[in-house]
Amino acid sequence: MNLKSMTLPELTAVLKELGQPQFRAKQVYTWLHKGVRAYGEMTNLPKSLRDTLAREYPICAPKVVRRQESARDGTIKYLWELSDGNCVETVLMRYHYGNTVCISTEVGCRMGCAFCASTIAGKVRDLTPSEMLDQVLFTQMDSGREISNIVLMGIGEPLDNRDNVLKFLGLVNHPDGMHIGMRHISLSTCGVIPGIDFLAQQHLQLTLSVSLHAPDSETRSRIMPVNRKYDVEELFAACHRYFQATGRRISFEYAMIDGVNDHDWQADLIARKLVGMPGHVNLIPLNDVVESPFKPSHRVAAFQKRLESHGVTATVRRSLGGDIDASCGQLRRKAMEEKEGAGEP
Ligand code: SAH
Repeated sequence: MNLKSMTLPELTAVLKELGQPQFRAKQVYTWLHKGVRAYGEMTNLPKSLRDTLAREYPICAPKVVRRQESARDGTIKYLWELSDGNCVETVLMRYHYGNTVCISTEVGCRMGCAFCASTIAGKVRDLTPSEMLDQVLFTQMDSGREISNIVLMGIGEPLDNRDNVLKFLGLVNHPDGMHIGMRHISLSTCGVIPGIDFLAQQHLQLTLSVSLHAPDSETRSRIMPVNRKYDVEELFAACHRYFQATGRRISFEYAMIDGVNDHDWQADLIARKLVGMPGHVNLIPLNDVVESPFKPSHRVAAFQKRLESHGVTATVRRSLGGDIDASCGQLRRKAMEEKEGAGEP
């Protein structure tokens, strides 16, 4: 049982069991969310309580296995080792509006997108709420840069681990914790429709990003196996429902792949599907993943223009950390390959 994954009421119940007054829970919660690594640092707690907690509820904190900083733009990429030896990545990016951290939500991913490095070796397990929080917390502590924004766009599919993700959002948003505003958080999904409907019911102020990557079933099923279960037609319908329920504009991610999803007719189709809903399309120059047969498109600007000609707002994502393998799953894959390689004669 990990205290850092608990809500304040849950923590209050645990401390009550230990015969502690109500105000202790808030003290412990505040310390845990400051990133202390040992109960000894919780100086306003009685020594006996610190000893009991240390015995029964060890504090987990990830270890930095690798830290790479881009000489070009200051992007920092962390590879963390979790308490069970698994590794995940976190990326810290600097924008004019502040520091954004991109966190992982699962160890690996089972969604199988054909262009993505995170999914190649499948999913190992879900991350716990505290393991997501720790990525934000320890990235801030290690870098010394205050984090203002969070994107759930690292390794894993957030809506494939939705209960832990929802709990994490509550923790990181809490006034006695890091207190990062929901409006400063984006959650990205490959299109898990029941998860989108579930999220709509929560009425959170976060930004939903949908990894669209193709507006037609045939192309989308080819590059994203999730489309065979949740077809893009139904996905657009779910997006409309989400907008109706929350009034929040959805951001659509679109990695431009040469000859696959970069045709004008696909831009036209996107525009048709977004009628009645203020969407924003974020065009992403494809990151070349060595294992993937797909290559970056040269039609990014033309595609953007075509979307705009229909009145759809489209931006091209600035690429950061290109010199440090900073995109999803690439660092973890490298580390895995080196481990495998080291095991060979
Ligand atoms: N599973 C979630 C979040 C993680 S991926 C999702 O699919 O949205 C974060 C974003 O990076 C997604 O839009 C994903 O499709 C995109 N992505 C993955 N591999 C990429 C690559 N090689 N080039 C560009 N974008 C990529």
